[in-house]
Amino acid sequence: MKAVVYDAPKSFAIRDIPTPEPKPGEVRVRVRQTGICGTDLHIHNGKFFAEFPLTPGHELTGPVDALGEGTGFDGTEGFRIGEYVSVNPNMNCGHCAYCRVGRTLMCANLKGLGTNWPGSFAEYVVVPANLVYSVDGIDPDVSVFTEPTACAMHGVETLSPRPGSSALVFGAGPTGLLLAQLIARGGATSVTVAASSPFKLKRAEELGIDHTFGMNRSDLAGDVAKLKAAAGGGFDIVVDATGAAAVSEQCVPLTRSGGTVMFYGVTEPEDQVKVSPYDVFRREITIKGSFAEIDSFPAAIAALRTGRARTEGLITHRFTLDEYPGALDALRGDRTVHKIIIECWQG
Ligand SMILES: [Zn+2]
Ligand SMILES: [Zn+2]
Repeated sequence: MKAVVYDAPKSFAIRDIPTPEPKPGEVRVRVRQTGICGTDLHIHNGKFFAEFPLTPGHELTGPVDALGEGTGFDGTEGFRIGEYVSVNPNMNCGHCAYCRVGRTLMCANLKGLGTNWPGSFAEYVVVPANLVYSVDGIDPDVSVFTEPTACAMHGVETLSPRPGSSALVFGAGPTGLLLAQLIARGGATSVTVAASSPFKLKRAEELGIDHTFGMNRSDLAGDVAKLKAAAGGGFDIVVDATGAAAVSEQCVPLTRSGGTVMFYGVTEPEDQVKVSPYDVFRREITIKGSFAEIDSFPAAIAALRTGRARTEGLITHRFTLDEYPGALDALRGDRTVHKIIIECWQG
């Protein structure tokens, strides 16, 4: 089969490698398509706990292609050949101190498909059946968003917005817009998305976001002042979904007393921001982080199926596996990109 194979950070080729066979308890999926996301750029650069050699890719959907022993549909559980599925990329070990108290996403031995085991920028992927979820009947252009939607679901669970809250989300990338929608569904009564790209903000409006705010990249302080004024002093919830440290730094000052900040975007590991401990203390600000997800696939699939999380119009670019280098270039530098899809199977 064809796959993107990295030997080391930034060093990859599209190769022909043996098609993996499912062992007992495993399922093989023919990868119809895989979304590419910001994390894949961090992985390209050798960050985000990437281990090499590596085939990246973690936002996949496609039909079940082969069933390992014990994974076929038995009347209640299991899968059928041809059934469309999405795959949860995160697997916990089950035996570390975190797993044993049920904090599975904090697992000390967390495995991430496309991060430290072979992912889905490939024609086929083999995974344990307990990571596989049926998305039968959902358009593959929607089900390909299962993983980012699951991350957004976990984000909302982490936030637990109080009913009636006002929220500000920095960043209008696909994951920011999914999170903004789910924060609104989770009890906030007003959600504002702030970003610098006019077309992404237009899409935010089309997806039903209450308010959008066009940021001026060269005047962050001015933007913060305007946002604060528009919100009458601040927001109950402020989320950074950009991964830009300069933006993260503005979250506490923009939060109303008693409110919550959540860091959701992936910054560089070495980034630092300034926070006034006095301000956090005096105004009782809560600062939270939300990283990936591990048990949010069922909620995400339900939200996509019912339209509680909408994705229409988000896919702007499609590439084949052979065109993967071009997809990376587009992700890095093309300002017209919203979501890029890699069509892995071309048979
Ligand atoms: Zn992703
Ligand atoms: Zn563990």
